[in-house]
Amino acid sequence: MPVRAPLGKLLMDAGEREAASRAAMLERLRFPVSFVRQLTPAEASDAAGLQLPRGGLWLPGCDALDPAIPASGWLATPGAVLRTDSPVASLEPAAGGWLARGADGRVLAEAAIAILANAGDAARLATSGSLAMRCIRGQGTLVARERIGALRTVLSGDAYAAPLGDRILAGASYDDGESLEPSREVDAANLRRLARMIGGDAASWLEDARSGPVGHRFASADRMPVIGQLPDEAVALREAAALARNDRLPVPRAPGLYGAFAFGSRGLLWSALAAGLLPALVEGDPMPLEADLLRALDPARFVRRMLRRRACA
Ligand SMILES: Cc1cc2nc3c(=O)[nH]c(=O)nc-3n(C[C@H](O)[C@H](O)[C@H](O)COP(=O)(O)OP(=O)(O)OC[C@H]3O[C@@H](n4cnc5c(N)ncnc54)[C@H](O)[C@@H]3O)c2cc1C
Repeated sequence: MPVRAPLGKLLMDAGEREAASRAAMLERLRFPVSFVRQLTPAEASDAAGLQLPRGGLWLPGCDALDPAIPASGWLATPGAVLRTDSPVASLEPAAGGWLARGADGRVLAEAAIAILANAGDAARLATSGSLAMRCIRGQGTLVARERIGALRTVLSGDAYAAPLGDRILAGASYDDGESLEPSREVDAANLRRLARMIGGDAASWLEDARSGPVGHRFASADRMPVIGQLPDEAVALREAAALARNDRLPVPRAPGLYGAFAFGSRGLLWSALAAGLLPALVEGDPMPLEADLLRALDPARFVRRMLRRRACA
């Protein structure tokens, strides 16, 4: 974790209407100003170190973080082992747990508890038809800092910009592409979006810009993550009529099989929540979240919806 002071984040207003509705929200919620406050365009420019056309919500405790830093910390936890050479081709129930096999049938791992945290491939391994996920390609763009100015905070709104050494990371795109090859057109579009937000000449920024990270985000149909014990869909389908009639009947679950995926654009936030929630679920400890929030993340919510739709059809 960084030892320097956080950069802070400015959520720029899209216009006066948004500024007014944010002011009303802050008035209602009465958060401490050390957490969030609204800035005028002049105050926002001062905070960002850059002349900005609009103000926004200022979150001084937010920061930009290289994901490799927390990840290497987590991997240093005693007992943590990372294997990158062995895609799991199938997962099967075994006496007292789960067996993960490679494409050649070799057993890669056996454990009492399995947690699927493999994004777009999780529904296949869970043999779940209800957990359909959408794949959204994302690409960031790195611009020389002197091109844009001495940005010293994170900016977000229609676009996103974060200072990163002598560069500014702008982005990220939300596009339908399959390819993980960087695209110059996407870089240009990222910079045009940023220029619309903060003002400036996107074409000149593009001259010595280079593509930043490219990846796929996976999101569920309701855009909430999937965190918790996975349903046993085959059994749920056999009990479909009763489950569709009675919302209080528990959805049958796959013993010892959990999920933490569909994190969409918020992997850092949701992974931290999953890390707090899953041990409590596995151990039967008190839940760190209220029941309605747990329901919003519950992997079984999609089976329930599927069964309800079938009952109505
Ligand atoms: C350009 C871009 C910018 C982003 N910016 C942010 C941001 O600022 N903040 C934020 O919080 N999030 C951001 N995200 C989103 C974030 O990257 C995702 O939410 C996060 O990576 C999801 O984590 P995950 O572990 O579920 O999936 P992934 O990161 O996709 O990891 C899944 C892993 O599972 C492995 N895997 C898949 N199938 C198998 C299998 N069968 N066997 C073994 N391994 C398997 C894959 O190889 C992969 O390593 C961004 C995404 C993109 C593309």
